[in-house]
Amino acid sequence: MNVVEVTGLTVRYAGATALEGVDLHVGEAELVALIGANGAGKSTLVKALSGLVRPAAGRVTVHGRLAQVPEGREMFGDLSVDDNLRLGGWRNGRHGRDTAGIYRVLPELAGLRRRRAGTLSGGEQQMVAIGRALMARPDVLVIDELSLGLAPLAVANLVGHLRALHADRGLAVLLIEQNARLALELCHRAYVLEAGRIVLHGDAGRLAGDTRVTAAYLGGHVSTEGPAR
Ligand code: ATP
Repeated sequence: MNVVEVTGLTVRYAGATALEGVDLHVGEAELVALIGANGAGKSTLVKALSGLVRPAAGRVTVHGRLAQVPEGREMFGDLSVDDNLRLGGWRNGRHGRDTAGIYRVLPELAGLRRRRAGTLSGGEQQMVAIGRALMARPDVLVIDELSLGLAPLAVANLVGHLRALHADRGLAVLLIEQNARLALELCHRAYVLEAGRIVLHGDAGRLAGDTRVTAAYLGGHVSTEGPAR
């Protein structure tokens, strides 16, 4: 079964078309990438997934729980890491706000739990944003720009955690990325969005070798370790 199903999605802003007839799905425990340049419509798709924009046509269906890691991470800088995590569990009731499980899967956060989130590095903040989303016990995590502004080592660390969450818990991920190399290395399948339309989609390994992708998004040949299975 698909956890996310987007069919014929069209979104317009004051007459300008941001998405046109987009078909996309994420299967259970699948890692899927959506690649696109600035202005392609990626954030609009994220907003449509969480119901923040109303489609002019088409449909978004989510089976199970979807949680988002928003672009820019959106920490409460004056609150502690632990309080930021708790905010991710607000829907779960009192017992659902226990953060111990998050420190088990993201152990680096345990030592930072009392730090004000605003004092953390970008990579640490991104980890808090992932932890906060995990507090909602999602079946699918939608990550808007995992790597934006982060050092390569921080990105590699986050990717390692996502691979483990996928392998251990069957977490599905929709990764929205400008960094096509990263997206195609991590994910099983990918979609390429250009000017509001899906222009290519398929197996990530195959897309990494597609000349249209390498020319436009990878700046030459890409060698991948292969996606997580
Ligand atoms: P980026 O990577 O730069 O964030 P994006 O792929 O996320 O870009 P969107 O933000 O979804 O792209 O924007 C898609 C198109 O819709 C762009 O042409 C943008 O200018 C336009 N757009 C986005 N939000 C609005 C809005 N509120 N009103 C009018 N036009 C908008």
